[in-house]
Amino acid sequence: MTRIDELPIRDELRGKTPYGAPQLEVPVRLNTNENPHPLPEALVQRIAERVAEAARTLNRYPDRDAVGLRTQLAGYLTRTTGHALEPTQVWAANGSNEVLQQLLQTFGGPGRTALGFDPSYSMHALIARGTGTGWISGPRTPEFDIDTEAAVTVIDEHRPDVVFLCSPNNPTGTALAAESILALYDAAQRAKGGRGALVVVDEAYAEFSHRPSTLPLIEGRPNLVFTRTMSKAFGAAGLRLGYLAADRAVVDAVQLVRLPYHLSAVTQATALAALEFADTLLGYVEELKAERDRMVTELTALGVEVTASDANFVQFGRFADAHAVWGRLLDHGVLVRDNGVPGRLRVTTGTRAENDAFLDAVRAVTKEINE
Ligand code: PMP
Repeated sequence: MTRIDELPIRDELRGKTPYGAPQLEVPVRLNTNENPHPLPEALVQRIAERVAEAARTLNRYPDRDAVGLRTQLAGYLTRTTGHALEPTQVWAANGSNEVLQQLLQTFGGPGRTALGFDPSYSMHALIARGTGTGWISGPRTPEFDIDTEAAVTVIDEHRPDVVFLCSPNNPTGTALAAESILALYDAAQRAKGGRGALVVVDEAYAEFSHRPSTLPLIEGRPNLVFTRTMSKAFGAAGLRLGYLAADRAVVDAVQLVRLPYHLSAVTQATALAALEFADTLLGYVEELKAERDRMVTELTALGVEVTASDANFVQFGRFADAHAVWGRLLDHGVLVRDNGVPGRLRVTTGTRAENDAFLDAVRAVTKEINE
């Protein structure tokens, strides 16, 4: 028994381990879907200016409603999705994980349930656990898509309070068509009778997709929420800035659970600086998409199966013992992710040199295995 278990902690946390990929010091780290490009120097300078400005009033609490930041985020979404959004339809927090937590604190909780389609982003289930929300695991097809009809049946059967859709999905990379989201949304509204269930589309990797964002679907759908992050496309995982877009009533509702002044003045200043450079950063995204597609092509040429990817990572396999392959790649100095999907591993798109190192390692390891 660990010391934690001797404490009077909640029963559902007993014997559990914290979420987190190994943070190992290896030459090529392609395991946490980060953007491999450091921020451009001009943006680093702009952050320094904006943070210095914020520092002059750090004796005061920050703008509790982060109005300036939400205005710029709404502008970014309006420009990139073609759907006009008001700042009142956008909410921001410390990473999209915190946004998801606030959503479950507001719409989940004891006596309520959330449904996801596995394999998917495992934090959805963990945040459900942390907020006392029951978890229902729905199925995916062998190609890791959501079979709309089967999913509607699961929603009808379980009548969850919150439905998580992840598009593009982590760890598989698969994206959902607008028609599927609409069918699942409609089912979720039936499931809870009058009030309907909240449908959360986690779009952490939206900017990397081949498809246009489905975010405009929020129009006229008060229970549909899209979550986004600056951790991936904006190359700012260290910033911790996530946000959501939804009907303004959802934004008003999450304010019932948010901690006062949850978003520091330093965070708000840094995020505002990064948003000034959105076009430059989206240019890097285009390069990463091309690299992602190259990885898919080259892995396929090596005889390795890949799952079609709309994200900045690629799920690859199938291996008889994926974890053993993970270890062998590590021996070659390349860290990828074993998400526990049988036979599969996940690699993040890195720089061209990192991707080449990864492909060389796969070449060597598949040769070792086949010898
Ligand atoms: N959603 C998905 C699907 C993710 O993969 C991640 C990060 N790995 C997150 C949300 C959380 O990202 P962050 O808290 O950095 O915004």
